[in-house]
Amino acid sequence: MLKSDTNEVHADEPRSKHFTSTRNACNLCTPLGACLVFRGVEGCIPFLHGSQGCSTYIRRYLISHFREPMDIASSNFHEESAIFGGSSNFQQGVLNVLRQYQPQLIGAATTCLAETIGEDMPRLLHDLREKHGDHVTAPIVTVSTASYRGTHMDGFHAAVKALVEQMAVARGEHPTSNDAPRINLFPGMVSANDLRHLKEILSDFGLIHTLLPDYSETMDGETWSQYEKLQSGGTPLAAIAATCSAEASIEFGRTLAGTTTAGTFLAETFNVGRHSLGLPIGIRESDAFFALLAELSGREAPVKYQRERGRLVDSLIDGHKYAFEKRAIVYGEEDLVIGLTSFLCEIGVIPVLCATGGHSKQFKKALREAAPSLPAESLVKERFDFAEIAELAPSLKPDFLIGSSKGYQIARSLNVPLIRAGFPIHDRIGGQRVLHLGYRGAQEFYDRIVNALLELKQDTSTVGYAYL
Ligand code: SF4
Repeated sequence: MLKSDTNEVHADEPRSKHFTSTRNACNLCTPLGACLVFRGVEGCIPFLHGSQGCSTYIRRYLISHFREPMDIASSNFHEESAIFGGSSNFQQGVLNVLRQYQPQLIGAATTCLAETIGEDMPRLLHDLREKHGDHVTAPIVTVSTASYRGTHMDGFHAAVKALVEQMAVARGEHPTSNDAPRINLFPGMVSANDLRHLKEILSDFGLIHTLLPDYSETMDGETWSQYEKLQSGGTPLAAIAATCSAEASIEFGRTLAGTTTAGTFLAETFNVGRHSLGLPIGIRESDAFFALLAELSGREAPVKYQRERGRLVDSLIDGHKYAFEKRAIVYGEEDLVIGLTSFLCEIGVIPVLCATGGHSKQFKKALREAAPSLPAESLVKERFDFAEIAELAPSLKPDFLIGSSKGYQIARSLNVPLIRAGFPIHDRIGGQRVLHLGYRGAQEFYDRIVNALLELKQDTSTVGYAYL
């Protein structure tokens, strides 16, 4: 097959003449996203149906980013389970977890092996209840997360949808606290600090809200006086049950268009209005979010956010001469890349390559819509890996890279700064506290980008500028 001479990636042809298979994927394993969602639910323990190595890998990845302990149970397949099915392992595993953790909920996700042998989770659940019903003291939500079918973001969104589908209780069967508008916010995979900021914004608009998931405390909590097997915090189960009686749902993720999500389920089943937005990264996408909150709450944006926006615009003028026409490579999960690209275009940076390992087939269209000033010649690549980014990077002559810590080796080889964003950030502390969203998040990113460029100029200068 010939290498494409356009900027597009076609599913039926290799992305480069050297391409043989995915090398160092620019995405992560599907149940990883589901496990993070389940740790964002109060008293919930993630449970992987499959091999133990999957839970070990996912724990390692999440712990190295969040710097918090995290338990993920496993049904621990062995050779026999792979041939005859893992029903007895599942039953034994669930009973052990219920006894040892006393969780409020078990979030059970499948792994590649369980999916490959065709494990039917509803059937396993039925068998468990039939045989051990008296001992099953907590609800179990199941989700199918074969990693060869998707990315960590697919697992993340599928787990949110499974929670709502399997736990939402019909309107009128639970009390509503007062007359203030109640909304659901499905934020996607953002940082713990982003989640805290979103809750602050919603509260400032006077909106009673359910944020699902909410791992802002479970994955970025305080020190304990006593060991907690399951860290406190997370979306309460009662709030998930009540999602179906909200006034509206907001769902972040432009690439979710055309898919079935928690928001579309609530809209179709319970008539809860759905508002789909891009991640509020940068000015235009944040403006859309704040405008929607103003509409839903019937209030103007609080003065503190108007001032944050004003200071951000002022700083863009201050730093324009440093950022203008700088060239960036941006990579990571699809909606993060879309948000960051939109922001980079706003500040005068040229994103020369926008790459993702995702393959929603919405990426290019959604990215061009969110960043209409992205030059036509900028490369937009989906289903891309780090080896391919590394092949292209030298000829693109970027001034900086922006994305997860997995791009560090490429940035190092080019001797340009890496602005760390998204997940994972394994070579710094504070990855869970990176703020991406809102005017405040844009301000932090802008300062980091401009200062990284100034630092590079100083470091590579033969004379050294003390005043730039
Ligand atoms: S086998 Fe599949 S589910 Fe398990 S760690 Fe690998 S990609 Fe993830």
